Amino acid sequence: MPSVFIKTYGCQMNERDSEAVAAQLVTKGYSLAKSESAADVVLLNTCSVRDLAEQKAINKMKNLVGTAKKDRPNQILGYMGCMAQSRGKELIEKLPDVDLVLGTQKFHRAAEYLDELLAGKREKIVDVEAEAKSEATIREHLLNGSAKTSVSAFVSIMQGCNQYCTFCIVPYTRGEERSRSIPDIVAECRQLVSQGVKEITLLGQIVTSYGKRGFGRAELPLGQDAQQRVPTTDGKSPFVQLLEAVHEIRGLERIRFTAPHPKGYDDDLVEAYARLPKLVESAHLPVQSGSDRVLKLMHRGYTRDRFLGIIKKLRRAKPDIGITTDIIVGFPGETEDDFEQTLSLAREVQFDNAYIFKYSQRRDTPAAGMPDQVPLKIREERNHRLLETVNEIGKRKYDAFVGRRTQILVEGPSKKNPARMTGRTRCNKIVVFEGAERHRGQLLDVKITRAGSFTLYGDPAIVNL
Ligand code: SAM
Repeated sequence: MPSVFIKTYGCQMNERDSEAVAAQLVTKGYSLAKSESAADVVLLNTCSVRDLAEQKAINKMKNLVGTAKKDRPNQILGYMGCMAQSRGKELIEKLPDVDLVLGTQKFHRAAEYLDELLAGKREKIVDVEAEAKSEATIREHLLNGSAKTSVSAFVSIMQGCNQYCTFCIVPYTRGEERSRSIPDIVAECRQLVSQGVKEITLLGQIVTSYGKRGFGRAELPLGQDAQQRVPTTDGKSPFVQLLEAVHEIRGLERIRFTAPHPKGYDDDLVEAYARLPKLVESAHLPVQSGSDRVLKLMHRGYTRDRFLGIIKKLRRAKPDIGITTDIIVGFPGETEDDFEQTLSLAREVQFDNAYIFKYSQRRDTPAAGMPDQVPLKIREERNHRLLETVNEIGKRKYDAFVGRRTQILVEGPSKKNPARMTGRTRCNKIVVFEGAERHRGQLLDVKITRAGSFTLYGDPAIVNL
């Protein structure tokens, strides 16, 4: 049977999509190749959020055409995911050695299309059509193959986005928001737990919108107030109802989710942290800017005050909560004063970490055509200044763990040094310690002895054996 190599660019949702495609292919008898040069099929799962990510995938494909495919002329090359969706057949027109372009609603068709290409029944396949119910097709998991059990798994709860932030390409690459049903998601989580998974991260572009447009495709007539379709029960949003349902699963130890949106971050979700012990003390809440003027231009739908209010409530509910964010610097029209407000917000919130992005013009997005685009030099300079502030705060936060005892869930050997094990605190910090394979999947108390750059080190001497 053929072998496949999948390379993933971008976010956790892309990682999850790649895993589902790999699992689908393994079920059909494909093996997973260790390198692209050894594979019969190479798939690049692409990201379009920034131009850099697109260029990386395009250069990678050009490189494959000139190397791996030269040695294996029958090798099948494919693009899938966000860039495949937004560029479609243009990708094959530019690089005729590409055989497959698979859109974001078509991952479940990967095996069928590859079979046709490998059998020579079709020469090229481009499929970027919308497909009803495709949100429920990202469900197969690999769980690291046979002997070793994955401790942590990602579960896709919805696809698409209706927020239309002016900088963002996602609504155009992932389509409109569609949510899977609660029973369907719970069944997948139960299955994972029965296979040894202890921690589940619920994934969606904006999880706080989960279920708000009903399940499946939005059917209400245009112009009807979105709030009318919210199936809220006892003041709890559909997302909080989903958290409660997943929380019931016996054997599941921890629940995480990403990414919520400050606009839909209501008190029921803050209260869920206080009520549901498996919901760990960790929140990734993208703020994007500290300036109200820029937030408005971005069409984010909240103010700086509203964001700070949510953080305050979260810390009141869970004082030790780890808080991370996404920030864009150099959005069109961002002045030095706007940027200073972002710096001051970062200092005020004291994020544990922040992912900082230099604004990147994306085609078809409103911000790409806005006046006062910020020159690259200024975007780079702001990126650098904000990074310094974020790193300084992060270092203090990580240093504060030294000497403390904390619970970790052991995930497996450290990627950098496989002789050591890594685990994760409830507040989402990586802890490296001198453990052994038998610790995998265990909840352990460790004493933190040292803090490195966004990594903690635990003392093996007091690991509970
Ligand atoms: N759905 C999440 C939200 O809107 O809060 C974020 C998803 S996006 C894949 C991850 C991050 O990429 C965003 O939070 C944003 O900071 C960044 N991003 C999106 N579009 C961008 C652009 N045009 N330029 C730079 N960064 C961008």
